[in-house]
Amino acid sequence: MSILNADLHCHSVVSDGTLVPEELAARAAANGVELWALTDHDEIGGQHRAAAAARAQGMKYLTGTEISVTFAGETVHIVGLGFDPDDAAMKQGLTATRGGREGRAREMAEQLARVGIHGAYEGALQFVGNPELISRTHFARFLVETGVCKETSEVFRKYLIEGKPGYVPHRWASLQHAVRWITQAGGAAVIAHPARYKFTANEEYALFTEFKAHGGQAVEVVTGSHTAAEAVRYAETAREFGLAASRGSDFHSPEESHTDLGKLPYLSGELTPVWELLADRIQ
Ligand code: AMP
Ligand code: MN
Ligand code: MN
Ligand code: MN
Repeated sequence: MSILNADLHCHSVVSDGTLVPEELAARAAANGVELWALTDHDEIGGQHRAAAAARAQGMKYLTGTEISVTFAGETVHIVGLGFDPDDAAMKQGLTATRGGREGRAREMAEQLARVGIHGAYEGALQFVGNPELISRTHFARFLVETGVCKETSEVFRKYLIEGKPGYVPHRWASLQHAVRWITQAGGAAVIAHPARYKFTANEEYALFTEFKAHGGQAVEVVTGSHTAAEAVRYAETAREFGLAASRGSDFHSPEESHTDLGKLPYLSGELTPVWELLADRIQ
């Protein structure tokens, strides 16, 4: 069951990806993906299209999203899988989480203007597929297009991370709420790309402990954001906390993403794959 080409993390134009759900489904299927989930940031507006596209491509499908959470002063991402996409509390929670993005984007643009980068709000909007989901990625694409930086990772490094001129601190959903929305809608909550957070060992321990206490069930072990050594390390963490494991590329765009859909190492056979917990939610 671990030897399954599952890709349970990627983004479409409904958040900060550049492909529509149908293009992602076709690309995933061409790369041999057998079980797929589209996990747009704080959004489930693409779920019905993605599920239909998966069916048309002969892939199995799990509903997905990636919720922005603030924990210990840091942004943490919690992936939800296999929930009911029509669940009212889930939809309301995600709408509230998206709510702060526009004001944050306007502040980002004001701060960038102070360092001589003008028109960034309108510029970023040109790259936005979903007006409720303007993200740092859209600003990064604008700064690349205008020649300020060569690639999006350089924009983040120079302008969009903490301590840099375009960074605006933001309070997202709580860990407890995000896990509750997902689990009460019948899904499994998954800690996304744990190696990406700048936590101390104590903070990381607290994240896993509280996540588990709130009913979280899994952690991403094999992801486009982890090195092989990090995958080994979080396989160990999954065992330590009694969590299932997930696998996902976090694909956003053919031009920007270095890990393509489905092109990842398999999960180790000693781990419980998250899709085993969600057998009855697979479409
Ligand atoms: P936001 O939700 O608006 O804070 O934007 C977060 C998104 O920015 C992530 O989901 C990634 O897609 C992207 N991102 C974050 N850090 C980087 C980075 N260093 N390089 C490129 N993209 C990044
Ligand atoms: Mn993203
Ligand atoms: Mn993420
Ligand atoms: Mn992601």
